[in-house]
Amino acid sequence: MRGLKRALVLAFGCLLATPLSTLAATQHDSFSPSEHIVQGNEITLAFPAGKSPSKHLLLTLPSGLHLSYAEIITLGDFYQVPEKPIYQGATNEEKEVRFLADFNLFAVSEENVSEATGVIEIIYDELKSIDEAIANGEDAEAAYKRVSPDYNRRYNCATGGGCSASNWWLSPGKYLKVAKTNYDHFGDNAWVSYHVGHRLAIQAAVSARQTEDVNKLAYAYAINAYASHFLSDRFASGHIRTPRVELAEQVTPQDVGSLLANYMHDEESSGGLHVHNGRGEQWIAYGDTTSFEAKCAPHRAKLIEALQLSADEIYLAYATGKSPDSKAVENILPIADEIGSHAKDDISSLFFFEPTLKQVMRREKLDDFYDRHWTSNWWGWSTFTELERKRGLPLKASRS
Ligand SMILES: [Zn+2]
Repeated sequence: MRGLKRALVLAFGCLLATPLSTLAATQHDSFSPSEHIVQGNEITLAFPAGKSPSKHLLLTLPSGLHLSYAEIITLGDFYQVPEKPIYQGATNEEKEVRFLADFNLFAVSEENVSEATGVIEIIYDELKSIDEAIANGEDAEAAYKRVSPDYNRRYNCATGGGCSASNWWLSPGKYLKVAKTNYDHFGDNAWVSYHVGHRLAIQAAVSARQTEDVNKLAYAYAINAYASHFLSDRFASGHIRTPRVELAEQVTPQDVGSLLANYMHDEESSGGLHVHNGRGEQWIAYGDTTSFEAKCAPHRAKLIEALQLSADEIYLAYATGKSPDSKAVENILPIADEIGSHAKDDISSLFFFEPTLKQVMRREKLDDFYDRHWTSNWWGWSTFTELERKRGLPLKASRS
């Protein structure tokens, strides 16, 4: 059996232009850290009279960190317990325990204080690089593609992983470990993870009301900021239809399944998806590296509105002492107009999960974004080698 396994590994090694060890470095997340920062900086936090609302107020955490709402949103891509995704918690209580274990990694534990401070410095440096590129007339998406490989290396290095330009991915830091298991950052799981954290933040705000403790209100905002990382990811178009979990479950080895999710993610991030929401609004959603593009403005406005409404609910809970019990945020969530085999105008899904067959279906013609035929008869490794040969590694994979 061991011989067979080794033979398979060797076979993969021969077939793939890129060794599997390299592929481990190609897992990624949604909006880049600097995009999360820019989005989060749009949010205003309300405080009782005497403390005027501030966009850049620093929230003090038990760990000793002083972070803005936007910075905490961003840390969702750096601090999570990789083996325990929130969505897999068997009960609401277990999901809450997992959410808090993730949040506490930087909010309570003193172990990661200097590390998180260093990560945030790199995020602002990334933002500066993008701002300079845009000021020099470079397209933001192109600028991200150009600068991200080295920032990914720096994020991995700053979170305890490899730093070498040639093989940093061989030693995953927290950043890479979170990216490899980012199931909570996609689709319904992202909404579940947000909602678990938002509920905890509401409880903290209600509790703060009982003692009229503004510091406790700030802590409730901090919990909500971390939850809002998942809310932001839920808006990224590459995260709406991609069967992230199912691909990783059904493709062997799992890393190849995750890479295939990346190819679909990249197709749908840049091209966008027609979406609608519970308010009957229709627009085109886009994904990561597009935040600064004019085409993304209507989508960005919906995301900012959702983030602001979420933060407003925390203040409402503090002001009234009750849970707002509102569906206002949920009603803004983008829902793909076309799913599975029903795509007409958008590109056809590269993959979708077919519930009757309990199988991930694949678009027959990988190169034809508008091919409306799918098959259950496909192999992960051959699909990957074909995509890798024709397109190279996925967009963000090319950063590593
Ligand atoms: Zn994320």
